[in-house]
This record gives sequence, structure tokens and C-alpha cells, in this order.
Amino acid sequence: MAMDEDEDTVMGEAGSQSLPSVTSPRWTSDGPGIQGNGQLNGRSDPSIAPPLLGQSVKLPLSAHSGDSRPEHTAGTGNQGISPPKSLPKSVDSGDATTEDFDKQDSLVEDNSDWTDEDAIARTGLPLASLPSGLCYDVQMRYHCEVRPTADVHPEDPRRIYYIYKELCRAGLVDDPESCRPLVARLLRRINARNATEAEISLVHTPDHFAFVESTKDMSDDELIALEHTRDSIYFNKLTFASSILSVGGAIETCLAVATRKVKNAIAVIRPPGHHAEHDKTMGFCLFNNVSVAARVCQNRLGDRCRKILILDWDVHHGNGIQKAFYEDPNVLYISLHVYSDGKFYPGGEEGDWDHCGEGAGVGRNVNIPWPSQGMGDGDYMYAFQQVVMPIAHEFNPDLVIVASGFDAAAGDELGGCFVTPSCYAHMTHMLMTLANGKVAVCLEGGYNFRSISKSALAVTKTLMGDPPDRLHTTSPSALATTTVRRVMMIQSRHWQCMYPKGPPQDGLFTDRLHDVIRAYQSKQLYDNYKLTSLFIYRTAISKSFENQVLASPNYHQPVPLLVIFHDPPEIMGLPHPVTNKLEAHNCWLADVMKDYIGWAVGKGYAVIDVNIPKHVTIDPSSGKYEEEDENRPTATEELAGYLWDNYIEPSEATEIFFLGVGNAFYGVANLLINRETLYKRVNSVVSFVAENPVRAIASHTQVWLSRWYKDNSLVFVSHTHGVWNSVETRRKPSKRYGQLVQSPKASLSEMLMHHKDEVYQWISERADVHDSETEEEKKPKPKSRSPTKENQGEPRSVAG
Ligand SMILES: [Zn+2]
Repeated sequence: MAMDEDEDTVMGEAGSQSLPSVTSPRWTSDGPGIQGNGQLNGRSDPSIAPPLLGQSVKLPLSAHSGDSRPEHTAGTGNQGISPPKSLPKSVDSGDATTEDFDKQDSLVEDNSDWTDEDAIARTGLPLASLPSGLCYDVQMRYHCEVRPTADVHPEDPRRIYYIYKELCRAGLVDDPESCRPLVARLLRRINARNATEAEISLVHTPDHFAFVESTKDMSDDELIALEHTRDSIYFNKLTFASSILSVGGAIETCLAVATRKVKNAIAVIRPPGHHAEHDKTMGFCLFNNVSVAARVCQNRLGDRCRKILILDWDVHHGNGIQKAFYEDPNVLYISLHVYSDGKFYPGGEEGDWDHCGEGAGVGRNVNIPWPSQGMGDGDYMYAFQQVVMPIAHEFNPDLVIVASGFDAAAGDELGGCFVTPSCYAHMTHMLMTLANGKVAVCLEGGYNFRSISKSALAVTKTLMGDPPDRLHTTSPSALATTTVRRVMMIQSRHWQCMYPKGPPQDGLFTDRLHDVIRAYQSKQLYDNYKLTSLFIYRTAISKSFENQVLASPNYHQPVPLLVIFHDPPEIMGLPHPVTNKLEAHNCWLADVMKDYIGWAVGKGYAVIDVNIPKHVTIDPSSGKYEEEDENRPTATEELAGYLWDNYIEPSEATEIFFLGVGNAFYGVANLLINRETLYKRVNSVVSFVAENPVRAIASHTQVWLSRWYKDNSLVFVSHTHGVWNSVETRRKPSKRYGQLVQSPKASLSEMLMHHKDEVYQWISERADVHDSETEEEKKPKPKSRSPTKENQGEPRSVAG
């Protein structure tokens, strides 16, 4: 058989390992061009290799595997044949060898660096004319539950049968029992065989092998008892037989692809493997099919198959594969899976994005952990385009193995995701641009018969050359973009193509900009208005809010007091489009607060200015990146309470005004709600809301609080805010939200700028009322604003 002969040749070459000797004497006589030829797989320098040469190396092989391309066999040994007249066009011309070659127009000249072999390779489409492979063996169905219950186990033996049947029905397989073939070039069958103990031991411990083997001699009762001692696995007497056949199927499939017996291939195998670890079965997996196959390819083929990409799109994290190659620089493992904070199977932190490999394998492990189920085509395409493909191309593998679970497919209840067959096709299509198209797809999970069959069919048709079907959704969800961007930042340490580069860990970038800006602000406020830091006693607060609370020297004197709670100033920057770096000359600070402070100080008022950083810095040296700061509301709350008790209430201020800007208004709102007597001391509240929810001020114990708030507040809300879309708000806004004013501006800074004069007027009129009444003022002052009395202090109506 031609195949056998071919196999011998391949193994012989692989065994020799060292590069130059790979070429047979027949080729070495041909001079310099041959060197590139012999070195091609994984070792060649693309900058030296002649164009299109990548395909020519297969020539010796394809010449042997004559049964697939008899027309080429004829030409192989014929030194007299020159290439077709128009070299580049020959690529389009299909079986170009049948054309008449015109010696006169030959592109092969005496000084050409094209060898005769290259010339032959350029005739036709040597790779496209290779068939795709299919590995399927009915004996892999023998592994099943000893005593099936009414609840059929999801890892059902029929899984592979349904996929196989689907491929037959599509007319892709030459099977006597299926319908007649419908395509010109059928899938070529790759025979599964039993993997040897030596092969399996490349990944698994001898004890583990012995354990799985021992199950073949156990009684049914023993097997069932065993099942309960293990994580998600069942056994029968034929489990071992099916498992080693499954591993052997993966090995033969990968070898056939790596040695170009087939163009690419799909292995419809079970039991699956990607959860199996070196010393244990788990998650329906006994031996790690894909990992063993990768190791066998590396060992047998040496430098011809040194670098392997294992892409795992099973909805579960392939913990076994990750573990097997965690320190291996030559195997890049990329997994897309549902993670859900480590709560989704297999659970734990191993599938998280910060697990990037160790030792020599650092950076060779890429986890894309979806935060929840429900992910779909747009999300997978986004991850492929942003992370998988750029990293895969930079890695530049010699072989791609897909750990192909179809449990992220739409219809799979276990996975709960919505990946369609055409998305699987697109992902396959993209992977086929790697490793000269050497893609071996090995089945892992996937439990809905219909979903796995349709998905596997789409993948197979793509492998065979059909263009992928159109996608209906291509836009990623916010969850996906957040996840993928985060993965990019983490992987940017290991891959040149990944941006933005995250801040390095070694403490080069030490200061958060908000600290820098606050230091600058406090200096400005001191220089101009003599504002200084207020002493904050409580240690828990002082650390976080150092420098954040500034006060004018007269803060305790009998003058109007303006207390400002605000977010850090807005920064506008134009980052570099690729590196995301911000340069100082391209960044601007919008600090309108200083105008307000200047105005108040100019009027002789006292000012307490409180900056609430978006992230409360816990420990600057930790360099920890916090996603969202849960501490902030609590810390703000505590700080506001502390300030009220120690500085604001005890002050002799004639009137107290609160100004709350952005999220920092939370502190003010909280005070109003929780300090029962506070409203008696506070004249009024002004707040600015751009994106955050408009806060309701209401209390069960003080039912009049909302009324008071409505009468004594000005709440500027961006015109883009959702509150304006509510019918209820438009008609008659609840008084709990205060006196709402629709601002024509959208951002906080713009709003602060735009409404400056209104705020100044509102405050000064209220402060001046007091001034004019100062002398007769001994009766309880708040009365003028008391809930029972109508809007005496309200200067004008501004309700939006
Ligand atoms: Zn799975």
C-alpha cells in the first residue's frame, strides 16, 4: 500500500531528527535551494525561503501517497518538466500538470533560485487536492454505563454515532451503509488504533494507566462502586478498550495531518480527554487524548512538528491539557470557556485569565474565561479576532490541534451558550491560516446530538474547503469585550502583538494619577485660597483620604459654609491608537471646582472641599488592579459622617450648603438620610448628576424629609440621563429626587461650567437672606425652610 510506504518514509525522516540530514541524497544533489526544503517544518527562516516553497516540502510525501494524486506522481521524478508558463496563475488553474508547458516561457532560468522541485510543486494545488481525514471507530461506543438509569448520562455513546451519521448524510463519507457520496473528494478514513502504554505515559503516570487498565477485569458492582469515588466519570468493562482507542484515534489523526497524509482532519472520538490529568480521571475523561497526541507528534516528528497550538473551544476549561503543558514553551494552549468566578466545571482558579504558564512555559497558556454562560457568536468571533489569532500567528505553530467540544453550541443545556455551526466554521477557517493549514480537530464534549452533529458538519465542510456560512450576529457583548480586553492586557506581557501593555509589575509606575492631581489641586488651593488639609483622625479613613479633605482657614467661623463632595476632575486624553499610551501633552484636566471655590472664598464664605477618588487606594505598593471598588461607598459614607460630626456640625457656620458632584454625592445623600437633625442645620443642597442614578432622599422615620429636600435642593441632571425618559418623571417628578433641573449639557464638567451662575445665585440669595436677618435672628432659623412652611426661601422656580 502506498500509505504504508509513505508512513515508513515519514517515520524514517522523523527519526533522524537533525535537520540537514533529513533530506535524502536524491534531493541534496540539487544545491542551495534544497536547504530550505529540508528545513521547512518549523525550522525554516521565512525570510530565506523562496515564495510558495512552503508547499513544496510536501512533494516527496505526496509523491508517495500517489493514490490521492496520481497525476503528480508521474511528474515527480521527471527532471525534464518545467513549470507552467505563467507561474502565479498556475495556482488558479487546478490540475495544471495536464497543460502543455512551453519551455520557451519557463520561469526557471539558469540563475533562478527556484529548484525543479519547487517548479513541480507549483503545478496545481498540491494541498487543496489532498483529502481531509476522518477518524471514527464504532468500538469507541463500547464505553457506556453498566446499568443505565432513566437519566441517560450526557456523555452518551451515541454522540459520536450521530456526528458520523451526519457526515454520511451530507455525502462526505464513503460508507457502504450510508447514502452515496455527494462530493468529488471524500473524507479519507484514518484508522484508529490502540494507543500504547508508552504513548499514554508521555502524559499520564504509570499508576494512572494501570488504574484505568484494571477496570477491564472488575465486576459490574465494583465498577459502579468505583464510579462514586471519582469526579464525574463512569466505567464498564470496555472503558479501557474505548479509551485507548480514543487516544490512538487522536494520535493517528494528528500524525496524518502533521505528516500531510491528509490536508487536515477531524477525529470523532470518545471518551473525551481534556479534563483528564496526569494522575486522575475526571469530567467524563480518562486519558487526555489531545495531550498524548501532541506529545507523540513532537517525539516522532521532532523539528517537523515542534511547536503545537492546542485550541480548546469546549465550553469547559481543559484543566488536563493546561496542566500537561504548563511549563512547555512549545505547546501553546488557548482555551475559551465559561468560568463564572471558578464556579463552572471543572471549578477552581486554574481556568482564570491570570494562569499564563510557568517557567519556560510562561506566556504559553491563554485562558479566555467567560464570566457567565450565554455567550454567542459575536463573543467568540471577537475573542478570535482580538486574542486567539494574533497570538497564534505570533506563536507560529507547526500543527494546530483543536480540542473540540461542541458544548458551547446553541442547544447544549450543559453549556448554556449560543455558538452556531457557522461560528464554528469561521473559527475553523481562521485556524486553517496557521501551520500551513495543518489542523486536526479532536472531539471533546458536547451533549446535544443535534447541536454537535450540525457543528461538527460545519467544521468538517470548512476543513474540506467550503467557505463558512454567513454569521448573523457579529457584535460582542459588553461581558465579552471586558473579558477579552482584560485578557489582552494580561497577555501583553508575553506577546508583542497584544496591546495595551498593562502596567509592569515591578513598580515602575507607582502613582495613581488621581493622587498626583489631588496633590497639585491642594497646592493650588493653598496658594490661592489658603485651603489646607483637615486632620482626619480615624486610621482607616486617614490612609485612603489623605490630602482629599481641604478647608479654608475660616471653616469654623460664623460665615456661610460651602461643603463640596466631588469626584476627581475629568481627564481628557488622546491615547496612542495602538499602544494606548497617554502622553502628558495630549491630556487635559477639567477642574471647574476651583472656580466654585474661588467664588465662595471671594464672597467670604468658608469652604470644605472633599475629593472622593474613584478607587480608594488601599496599598499603593501592591499595584493591585481593582475592577470596581466596593470600598468606595462605605469609605465615602464613613468619611462624610466623620466630617459632619467633627467639623461641620460643631462649626459656627451661619448657613451650611452642600454641593455634591457626580458619584461623590453619595456621601451627602447618606448624611441627609441618616443624621436625623441634619436638615435643620443645612440650608440647601445642590447636586450634579451625569451618569449615576439620581439619588432619592427619603426616610421612613422622617416622612417630611423628601418635602424638605424638594424645597431646598437643586439637582442638575444631564439631558442624556435616563431619568428624563421616564413618563413619571416628566409629568410629576417624585419629590424624593429633589428639584430636578434638566441640563442642556452632558458631562459633569460641562454642566458645572454651564450652571455656575445659577448655583452662585441660588447660594448667595439664600446666604444673604440670612445676612439681612442676622440681627433679629434668634428664633429657630431653619423654620424658614421647615417642611411645614411653603417655599419661602426658594428664589425662583427652576424645575425642569
Ligand atoms: Zn465540556
